Amino acid sequence: MYSVHSPQSLAIRPLLNLLLPSNCVLCKDRLSESNYCLCKGCNEALPQLTNQCSGCGTPMLNGITSPDISCSECQRKPPPFARCIAALHYMSPVDRLITRIKSDPHAPELQELSSLLLASIYARYDTNSIPTTIIPVPLHWRKLAYRGFNQSYNIAKYLNQQLPNTQLCSDVCYRIHHGKAQHLVGKQQRLRSMIGAFDARRKIPGQTVALVDDVITTGATAKAATLSLLEAGAKSVDIWCIARTGWHIATP
Ligand SMILES: [Zn+2]
Ligand SMILES: [Zn+2]
Repeated sequence: MYSVHSPQSLAIRPLLNLLLPSNCVLCKDRLSESNYCLCKGCNEALPQLTNQCSGCGTPMLNGITSPDISCSECQRKPPPFARCIAALHYMSPVDRLITRIKSDPHAPELQELSSLLLASIYARYDTNSIPTTIIPVPLHWRKLAYRGFNQSYNIAKYLNQQLPNTQLCSDVCYRIHHGKAQHLVGKQQRLRSMIGAFDARRKIPGQTVALVDDVITTGATAKAATLSLLEAGAKSVDIWCIARTGWHIATP
């Protein structure tokens, strides 16, 4: 299994450097060989999420840092997934970096952001409690045909390559319908429109699942996909995402 700094990955580094940008995509400073597309300063300045709700992963108010604290909504009604790990707060410049991985399957932002998510995963789990089945949130086939790739699959593939003892299963969950676009409707409408949006092609009895998405906004997509996987026999479903929106967007 390759790790970010394994001898194997270092051996292919010169080749990668031919493909990767030579300047930081944000500040345009020269990149060192250990960076994908952000300089050390821009990488460290990204809005990392250190205080999230232990259930839905929503960024919590400043000053709340306990790993066991749930937001009021999760206390009222816990989500069907066990936890949501997010690396970053969805705000500028994270939104621009994520737009890149949605528009170009080879964008170096993919490795940059996925490696931050990998670090968050290692920080939040004991090694032997990491879910072993990695499933990307599927796109509807029409959207997949239009875009040509699924950015969540690309993130999931990176994580599968880096995490030992995991399997990537992109053939289990499929999307029956779109639901309404999140930016067009309120949270409750979005939740309603996503009911029954996913189904599973086969049973996955007893499997511990990590469902991977690029951004979690209302959580409606994650909840609907989770229900389909639990229905298919999954023992538990965790959500792994690059970025999570805050209250100002999550509760319109
Ligand atoms: Zn920079
Ligand atoms: Zn919550």
